[in-house]
Amino acid sequence: MTIDPAKLAPEGVRTLAPYIPGKPLEELEREYGIRDSIKLASNENPFGPGQRALEAIARAAREIGLYPDGSGYKLKQALAKKHGCNTHCITLGNGSNDVLVLIAEAFLSPQSEAVYSQYTFAVYPIAVQATGATARIAPANPAGHAMPLGHDLAAMAKLVNERTRLVFVANPNNPTGTWVSGDALRSFIAGVPEQTLVVVDEAYIEYVSTSDFPDASRWLAEFSNLIVTRTFSKVYGLAGLRVGYALSHPSVADMINRVRQPFNVNTIALAAALAALDDAEHLKRSVETNRAGMAQLQAGFDALGVRHLPSAGNFVMIDCGRPAPAVYEAMLRQGVIVRPVGNYGLPNHLRITIGTREQNERMLAALKKALLP
Ligand SMILES: *Cc1c(COP(=O)(O)O)cnc(C)c1O
Repeated sequence: MTIDPAKLAPEGVRTLAPYIPGKPLEELEREYGIRDSIKLASNENPFGPGQRALEAIARAAREIGLYPDGSGYKLKQALAKKHGCNTHCITLGNGSNDVLVLIAEAFLSPQSEAVYSQYTFAVYPIAVQATGATARIAPANPAGHAMPLGHDLAAMAKLVNERTRLVFVANPNNPTGTWVSGDALRSFIAGVPEQTLVVVDEAYIEYVSTSDFPDASRWLAEFSNLIVTRTFSKVYGLAGLRVGYALSHPSVADMINRVRQPFNVNTIALAAALAALDDAEHLKRSVETNRAGMAQLQAGFDALGVRHLPSAGNFVMIDCGRPAPAVYEAMLRQGVIVRPVGNYGLPNHLRITIGTREQNERMLAALKKALLP
């Protein structure tokens, strides 16, 4: 070949910046020759899955000689009950990431546009750009705002035009942790044209305790252009199994379903998610630990004089007041993995997942040492 085969890919794909995941524990320990390190970098549940999910996983392992139930019948039944909706409103995905990509594939084309905010989930640009659609990126709230670097819904609304098929709103937002209120989100959805679908990504909603936080899934009957996504990767502790879902108008679900791989969610994941929905105790323990951990982190950051953003999730973004990569490195050497967010255009910030009390203590000690002159 005399040409670079990379040139064969469409421009949207060639110009994509690949997703940068959090550093895996094994990789850190291999590279630095250390042990007993902790990962607070990917917003995982520090307890992992609950007992019920683990038992379901063991049972389901015996079934994996057969293809999974491609319709996800049992899990959809349980989700329909949880959300008070019809099973035809549900699309299951190999993580909600899968669902987000399927939504983009089903509704975007090189002629259409999608809108999202600056400093939001890195999967949106990838999903949009791969379809050849044009991404319109709204400026985020300024640093001095009550929700610094968070979504400016008015700025997002301004970018919506007749070619806009999708708008992505992560609530709470990742990586900032900021959120938008129920009133603001509701008027935003009511204000966009009917031919624009609004995707509200509620990956962290189970952790939210702040009042006036909207559960957008309650508005599905009202807005046929609303899609809500949820995941089992965060509070349910099943990140490694990959299960998520979308709730939408049945016609929207029908379109997403047409581009879905028939067996996109595996047998073990289906069984574990179903069991996890039934484990209220694990959920409660996870949410309570997170609440205490949030207070612990905020107090710890304040004591160190480190600026932190308001967060409704299971993570906090801090402003190191200096280039974050050196702080990140110094923490890695102490066996603590956090998440640099330079790829989001935030070179001085770190995103830190809330862990157990002991993990949080260790992280704060490592941060303190990393920040010493
Ligand atoms: C973690 C996260 C998800 C979940 O991704 P999965 O593919 O379900 O693991 C979705 N949206 C946001 C904003 C997230 O931070």
